[in-house]
Amino acid sequence: MDLPKDKKSKKKSVLSVSSGVQQPPSVNREAFELTRKKKKKQLTAEEYVNGILNHDPVILSQAITIIESSRPDHQKTGQEIVEKCLPYCGDSVRLGITGIPGVGKSTFIEEFGFYVTSAGRKLAVLAIDPSSERSGGSILGDKTRMEKLSSDPNVFIRPSPSAGSLGGVARKTRETIFLCEAAGFDTLFIETVGVGQSETAVHSMVDFFLLLMLAGSGDELQGIKRGIIEMADAIAITKADGDNIKKSERAKIDFRNALHFYPPTESGWMPRVLTCSAVTHTSLKEIWEMVQEYIEMTLANSWFQTNRKRQSTYWMYKTIEENLKDHFYQNPSVKKKLIKMEDDVLLDKTSSFKAAYQVLEEYFKKKGK
Ligand code: GDP
Repeated sequence: MDLPKDKKSKKKSVLSVSSGVQQPPSVNREAFELTRKKKKKQLTAEEYVNGILNHDPVILSQAITIIESSRPDHQKTGQEIVEKCLPYCGDSVRLGITGIPGVGKSTFIEEFGFYVTSAGRKLAVLAIDPSSERSGGSILGDKTRMEKLSSDPNVFIRPSPSAGSLGGVARKTRETIFLCEAAGFDTLFIETVGVGQSETAVHSMVDFFLLLMLAGSGDELQGIKRGIIEMADAIAITKADGDNIKKSERAKIDFRNALHFYPPTESGWMPRVLTCSAVTHTSLKEIWEMVQEYIEMTLANSWFQTNRKRQSTYWMYKTIEENLKDHFYQNPSVKKKLIKMEDDVLLDKTSSFKAAYQVLEEYFKKKGK
C-alpha cells in the first residue's frame, strides 16, 4: 500500500540508516594537502626539451601530457617543445597499423614490436582511438594490452589522447611522434581501429600503412571501406596458424586478386598481401623486411620525402581549420545564436542555409568590432 509522502519517509526499514552518525572523511586531508604541495612545478619548455634529448622517458611522458592539455599556457609550452624538438626528428620509420577490434592488433604489435626491438630499433607505440572521443571508453590503449612489450626498456607506449575532436586528437598524436623521435625512438607504430575516420588521420602521419584483416568471415572486406584498402601499403591476414592456415591462404589470394583492380599508388609501390601469425611468429620477419624495402624504394624515388612534406602542409591546414572551428564554436554570441537558429530550423521557421549565414554573420560582426 502506498503511504502518504510524509509518512513514507518516517517508515522504518531494516535498511534504514541512523541519522546523526557522520561518515569519516574518505581522504586523509593532511596527506592529500602534502602530496598536492609536493607536486612538482611545471618545467620550462627548455627543461622538457633537454629531458627529451637526454632520452628521459619520464620527461617525455610529461611533455606529451603538456601537448595533450587544452590549457592555453600548456598549449604555448607544448608548441615551444615541438618547435625545439623538430630539428632532431625525421630519421625514423613511421608505421600505421589498423584493423577492426579483434583482428589481433595488440597481439601483433606485441610480437612484431619485440621482433623490431630485437633487431636493434627503439620503438614508440602510439594510438588514435576514436571511441575515447565519443564515450570516454577506449578500444585501444587498455592497460592490460601489450604487457610484455611495455616492460621492454627500448619501448615507449602511449595510449590515445582522449579529449577533443578526432582532428585534435590526431594532431596531438602527430606532435607526440616528433617528441618520441627527438627522444631517440627511431620506429613508430601508430595504431588505430579500422571502423571510422581515424585511418585517414593515421595515414596522413605515417610512411607505411599496414591493414590487418581476418580470413574467411564471409564478407572478406569485413566492413572495411574501399578507401581504407586503397590506403594500405600491405594487407596482412592475421591468425594464420593451426586450422586457420588454409583459410588465410585463400583470403590472401582473394585479396591479391582484388588489389589488381585498385588504381596504382603514387609511391610506385605495389601493395602486398601476406598472411601472418602473432602466435607462431609467422611472417614477422617478412613484414619488417617489406617495410624496410618500401622505405629504401621510396627514399630512392623521393616519394618518402615528398609524402612527409605533403603531410606537413596537410597538418598546417588541418590545424588552422581546427582552431578556426574551436574559436567559432566557443564564441559566446555564436553559442547563443546557435541555440536559437537550431530551434528555428527544427520548427521549419527558416532554412538551414539562412540559419547558418545568420550565425556566421553574428560571428563576423563580433570579430569586426
Ligand atoms: P585487437 O582487438 O585487434 O587488439 O585484437 P587482440 O590482439 O586483442 O586479439 C583478439 C583475439 O585474437 C585474442 O583472443 C587473441 O588471443 C587472438 N589472437 C591474436 N593474434 C592471434 C594469432 O596470431 N593467432 C591466433 N590463433 N589468435 C590470435
